Amino acid sequence: MAAHKLLLLPGDGIGPEIMEEVKKVISWFNAQGKESFETDEGLVGGAAYDAHGVAISEEDMAKAMASDAVIFGAVGGPKWDDVPYEHRPEAGLLRLRKDMELFANLRPAICYPALTDASSLRKDVVEGLDILIVRELTGGVYFGEPKEIRDLGNGQKRGIDTQVYDTYEIERISKVAFELARTRNNKVTSMEKRNVMKSGVLWNEVVTETHKNGFEDITLDHMLADAGGMQLVRWPKQFDVIVTDNLFGDMLSDVAAMLTGSLGMLPSASLGAPDPKTGRRKAMYEPVHGSAPDIAGTGSANPIAMLASFGMALRYSFELVEEADLLDKAIANTLDKGLRTKDISAAGDKIITTAEMGDAIVAELTALTA
Ligand code: NAD
Repeated sequence: MAAHKLLLLPGDGIGPEIMEEVKKVISWFNAQGKESFETDEGLVGGAAYDAHGVAISEEDMAKAMASDAVIFGAVGGPKWDDVPYEHRPEAGLLRLRKDMELFANLRPAICYPALTDASSLRKDVVEGLDILIVRELTGGVYFGEPKEIRDLGNGQKRGIDTQVYDTYEIERISKVAFELARTRNNKVTSMEKRNVMKSGVLWNEVVTETHKNGFEDITLDHMLADAGGMQLVRWPKQFDVIVTDNLFGDMLSDVAAMLTGSLGMLPSASLGAPDPKTGRRKAMYEPVHGSAPDIAGTGSANPIAMLASFGMALRYSFELVEEADLLDKAIANTLDKGLRTKDISAAGDKIITTAEMGDAIVAELTALTA
C-alpha cells in the first residue's frame, strides 16, 4: 500500500490547535489499516518568520512541492504586524499558492442539519444545502496589467485594473468544475458578465466549447454573475457546482459561505494542474478562517473547518470518497448530538473545547464503522 504524503503546516494562532485534531483523525484512518498517510510538518507564517526570518523556508517549500497534499492551518497575528512587508505571515500562503500554481479554489457551502438555525436564511431554503463554488484563483482583474493609479495631470487621477483571461485559463478551470461535478450531482453553472464584458463573452464561449469536448454527460447552465448572486440567496439548492472567475468567485463564495452560518465551519481546497506523469494535482487544503488571535490558547477554536478541509483532501486528492463521506457523517452526527464549540453554540448549549470536539468526531468515526 503506497502511503499518501501529507505536509502539515499548522501556522500561527489557532492553527496549531486545530491541526492537533486533524492529526487525531489521520491516526484514526491509519489505524484502520486500509489507507496509509505519512505526515511531515513544517513552519509557515509568523512561526516560520520567528524561526527562519522568512514566511516559509526553502526547505519547507520543497517539502510542499514534493507532497501529495498540503494541509494548512492559518497564519498571522498582531505579533508580526511590524515585520517587513515581504516577510509578513500571509507571504507564506501566497508563495505556496504561486509556486504550486494553485489556480482552482474550491469552496463548498454545506448546511449541516443541526445548524440550519445558524443561517440568516429560512430553514427550508438552506436545509440540506450542498453546493461547491470553483473560483479561478490566479488570473483575472486581480493580476491583469496595467494595474496602476495614473496621474492625468489635470488634478485628476485614474485607477486602472485590467480583467484579462486567456483561453487556456478558462479551459483548465472549467475542466476542474466538470470533473468535480462528476463526483457530485453532474451539474455545472458558469457565471460571468458577457452582457457587458468581453472577457465574459470569451469565458462563456470557452466553457461551452470545453463542455462539448468530453463533458456532455454534465448538465451545463450559464448565468450572469449578478443574477447568480440573487439566485444564491433566493434558492441556493438549485446549484451543484458553480464555476466563475477570480473577482466574481471572491464575492459569490463569501455569499455562499454565509448561507451556512459560522466561519469555524468552512473548509476550502486549492488545486493545481495534473502532473503529466501521475495525473495527480498539486493541492492545498485549509480552513477559510484566519488564525483567530483573539481566542488562540483558550481551547475554544472550532476544529470542524480544519477537519472538513482534510475531508476535502480525502475526496479530491486521494479519491477516497467513502472515507470523505464517513468523516462528513461523523461531523454531522457529532453536531446532531448537540455538541458545540462556543462559536456555533446557542443559549443553553453545553460548550466543549477544541480537543473535545476532535475526540467526539473520532469517537463518531469509530461508532460509524463498528
Ligand atoms: P479570523 O478568521 O482569524 O477571525 C475572525 C473571527 O472569527 C474572530 O472573532 C475569531 O475568533 C473567529 N474565528 C475564526 N476561526 C474560528 C474558529 N475556527 N473557531 C471559532 N472562532 C473562530 O479573521 P481576522 O480576525 O480578521 O484575522 C486574524 C488574523 O488571521 C490576521 O492576522 C489575518 O491576517 C489572518 N488571516 C489569515 C488567513 C489565512 O491564514 N488563510 C485568513 C484570514 C485571516
